[in-house]
Amino acid sequence: MALFERKNKYIRINPQRFVKGTEPRETPEVPDELFAKCPACKHMIYQKDLGLAKICPKCSYNFRISAQERLAITVDEGSFQEMFTGIKTKDPLDFPDYKEKLAAAQAKTGLDEAVMTGTAAFAGQKAALAIMDSHFIMASMGTVVGEKITRLFEYARAEHLPVVIFTASGGARMQEGIMSLMQMAKISAAVKRHSNEGLFYLTVLTDPTTGGVTASFAMEGDIILAEPQTLVGFAGRRVIETTVRETLPEGFQKAEFLLEHGFIDAIVKRTDLKETIAKLLAFHGGGK
Ligand SMILES: [Zn+2]
Repeated sequence: MALFERKNKYIRINPQRFVKGTEPRETPEVPDELFAKCPACKHMIYQKDLGLAKICPKCSYNFRISAQERLAITVDEGSFQEMFTGIKTKDPLDFPDYKEKLAAAQAKTGLDEAVMTGTAAFAGQKAALAIMDSHFIMASMGTVVGEKITRLFEYARAEHLPVVIFTASGGARMQEGIMSLMQMAKISAAVKRHSNEGLFYLTVLTDPTTGGVTASFAMEGDIILAEPQTLVGFAGRRVIETTVRETLPEGFQKAEFLLEHGFIDAIVKRTDLKETIAKLLAFHGGGK
């Protein structure tokens, strides 16, 4: 045993040590709002350099953004009308700490659930819109997320509107057990009814889109777009590798790999999304 091994291999420099009259803190802290580490290229990026669209200047990775930030850079100013808020989960399993976790997520994100739904316009083209936010319990899909998206499709069908969904999800919400899995079928049925009316459905896969969301409505779009380097998959690499006993190719769950293999239609830079969506809506009959 390494009896004298140093537990902490890295020497920590505490910037507070150099400020006169301040007590040194135990660990150095860099305020979150100053720098962000790019998850793709690992560079430390000065927040201001990320810009409003939050794109890494070093490797073009599209950082995860909130639903509100997505709205601000994607839809026409003042066009979003939120719908289907105030639906509450029944917490069917009476899962420990679930209510507290929900309340914390609501306070942190300013959202009522992991998806924001309503109508909006893209360069004048009206559509029903859903934006999932990974900052809300990893945008996991529970009964409320399922219900909001289903109602959005029902509304779009009645109003003859196309549907645009920005997907992001860690999968089904385990705190709601089988009820969350049921949402996959429920939403898929609503997608089909909307499609039967000849209405257009567009999905934009954003980082990360996984689990039950990938296995249902994320991949049911008439056209499927993705942001660069988006992780898209059902199960994680380790789970698949141990199940099929094969080594999987590098980057097999990245948008670029999926495009190459025909699973998605195009990879679109975040800054080009608004224009691309507007064009696609216009080509397919558009909204009112
Ligand atoms: Zn980067």
